[in-house]
Amino acid sequence: MTEVADNLADIQQKISKIAEKWQREAEEISLMAVSKKQPLDRVEAALDAGHRLFGENRVQEAKEKWPAFREKFNGIELHLIGPLQTNKAKEAVVLFDVIQSVDRPKLARILAREMKAANKNLPLYIQVNIGEEDQKSGISLQEADGFIRECREDLDLNIIGLMCIPPNVEQVAPYFALLARIAKRNGLEKLSMGMSGDYETAIQFGATSVRVGTGVFGSRAY
Ligand SMILES: *Cc1c(COP(=O)(O)O)cnc(C)c1O
Repeated sequence: MTEVADNLADIQQKISKIAEKWQREAEEISLMAVSKKQPLDRVEAALDAGHRLFGENRVQEAKEKWPAFREKFNGIELHLIGPLQTNKAKEAVVLFDVIQSVDRPKLARILAREMKAANKNLPLYIQVNIGEEDQKSGISLQEADGFIRECREDLDLNIIGLMCIPPNVEQVAPYFALLARIAKRNGLEKLSMGMSGDYETAIQFGATSVRVGTGVFGSRAY
């Protein structure tokens, strides 16, 4: 299991190099280890190596894994990066430190209600369907500005940034650039974009958080 530790160190080093090349501060860019569908020993190896920032894409799976890890390791920061059903919102508020997949008004309203009930105000990202793809979640480009305003002004949600998964095309850079523009015009600082295959480009275009799964842990068990 030294492999996971080595991968984390390698990617962290790459992030530093890319940051330097594109004249950004490496400290502004965090490496999220996406642990969905990974064997527990690999996740534990990352924790043993001192890594603390993780992403999961399903409430149920997170519930099975993370309470036990939280008992054993301090300082874990767990983000939800997958679609959230409204009937799981209450559980998500308990399990996660940050929710990155806020993508529709109904979910935003229910999260606001559940967080109030739990006396919490989690930092949230709004997911944007940056390539306007039918099969992807995310608020549409046309509705993004209005939705961001509604979340912040009407619902008092703590929106800290935007998240996207670009289309599976050769040139992802324009999508990252577009997400950065939407964030900028709305005064949002955080940009969660870039995965194992495209995090270099994402950092070039302003990512503050890259979500790396297979690059850290190896291929997933399905
Ligand atoms: C699985 C997943 C990732 C990580 O993907 P890799 O290609 O394994 O790095 C990143 N973001 C989201 C939303 C995911 O679901």
